[in-house]
Amino acid sequence: MTNHTCYVCKKTFTNAIYWYDSLHDTKYDKRIIRPFCGPPCANKYREISDVNDYPIRKPFPQGAGWEIISNIDYIEYETD
Ligand SMILES: [Zn+2]
Repeated sequence: MTNHTCYVCKKTFTNAIYWYDSLHDTKYDKRIIRPFCGPPCANKYREISDVNDYPIRKPFPQGAGWEIISNIDYIEYETD
């Protein structure tokens, strides 16, 4: 089980339900995951980040590093 660090409040937690995934975002050329400890931090991220300023990536990129992620608790991921 991965220990996640909330991108917003820096709290450490397990069982991630909310995260940012650069798969959806044209801003990043690489896969970045930013976990959030819960809905308040997930909502706050939308306010404090510029994520809504970039168009949604369509179609999604393919290939290594861009697999669909449905659970980040058991994978290694890159964050920032
Ligand atoms: Zn948090």
